[in-house]
Amino acid sequence: MIELVILDVDGTITDQNRIISTKAIESIRAAEQNGTVVSLISGNVIPVMYALKIFLGINGPVFAENGGVEFNTDITPFFTIDEPMRFYKKLLELNLCEGILTNAWRYCSVGYFPKDEKVDKIYELSKGYNVELTDSGFSWHILNRGQNKGYAIRKLIEEFSLSPDKILVCGDSLNDIPMFSLPVKKAVPNNARQELKSMANYISQKDHGDGIADILSRISSF
Ligand code: CA
Repeated sequence: MIELVILDVDGTITDQNRIISTKAIESIRAAEQNGTVVSLISGNVIPVMYALKIFLGINGPVFAENGGVEFNTDITPFFTIDEPMRFYKKLLELNLCEGILTNAWRYCSVGYFPKDEKVDKIYELSKGYNVELTDSGFSWHILNRGQNKGYAIRKLIEEFSLSPDKILVCGDSLNDIPMFSLPVKKAVPNNARQELKSMANYISQKDHGDGIADILSRISSF
């Protein structure tokens, strides 16, 4: 029986234009009313995750910056921004990327858009820094090494003292792979990347929020 559900945000409870699905919201509320704890995790920033938790009434902790910061009743960063910022400044100096708007609110990562054809060059340079890069499908992120959604899920497992088979994770893109690599249950909407589909226990035939509503309606079968 699943006791804790962790949902990615962009592309999972939103569509490709980042519009949140009202069906997903209703299904989250129904799951919570049935006693499930729901948590959200995203590459987005704490002010956004704070607002989602408060305004959607999410009953579990939420995680920003790919798992680098938690908000429940307090904000808890697990990493610092020093090393991602050091690498980002190098990329700017070499004119390899542009920053993203939400960098104004980050604790431990930096978002960027690579300039044309510069993805490989940026990867190569990153080897000289204690960082990892990830592509959310919406923007790229510079993270501390070890900072990923899997790290946050391990924190949640500790916090709730839950056995991993009581946890269901849902996501759609490559930055979800670290949490899909854990021995938890996994489900994906139909728009998910093939890499995640091949790891999933259940693949919904529906996209985005409709897929999440479908998954949450079957939660007792996981
Ligand atoms: Ca996503």
